[in-house]
Amino acid sequence: MIKIAKRIVELFPRDKFTEDPFRILICTILSQRTRDENTEVACEKLFSQYSGPYALSKARPEKLYELIKASGMYKQKAERIVTVSRIIVEKYRGKVPSDLEELLKLPGVGRKTANIVLYHGFGKPALAVDTHVHRISNRIGFVNTKNPEQTEMELTKLIPSELWGPLNGAMVEFGRKICLPRNPLCNKCCFRTECDYFHETYKG
Ligand code: SF4
Repeated sequence: MIKIAKRIVELFPRDKFTEDPFRILICTILSQRTRDENTEVACEKLFSQYSGPYALSKARPEKLYELIKASGMYKQKAERIVTVSRIIVEKYRGKVPSDLEELLKLPGVGRKTANIVLYHGFGKPALAVDTHVHRISNRIGFVNTKNPEQTEMELTKLIPSELWGPLNGAMVEFGRKICLPRNPLCNKCCFRTECDYFHETYKG
């Protein structure tokens, strides 16, 4: 299993970049329920006008609508971004907290977002489990779980911590290109022989 996880990371690498944690946090909020292209547009526009938590904490949410419209649900996201920025300024002196418990106290920040911030923003070992990671891990048979949180708990017991961060990005790529949500391209996949789903589906 560790071998397969390593292989996925090698075949579908995504840059590990440690960037400004605040920007990572806000862009991850913007990324909820939208595509990467839309997130990038919204994130670029927003940060071209607002440099960080102090500026955003003072903004009126309506002022953000046009800037983040591309990401969808822009009214809710604008409210959330301003609220989160205010909390970061008032409670954390303008610095995004670097531990999971504190990140989870921020409104709208769940485990996936918190783990993305920990890995990409602070370079800490953290496994963000989204629908791709959850689906693929269950299909291959790494885990047998009902939701992303259970998947995170199980995977972090089974996989060494240096793979946690890179595995998220790699599985997202793998899930978009090969192990699609519907009709996975098993005939193009090099993990067929190890994959439970493949054996179950094509055993006849
Ligand atoms: S064999 Fe099919 S289901 Fe299994 S990992 Fe590959 S693409 Fe996904």
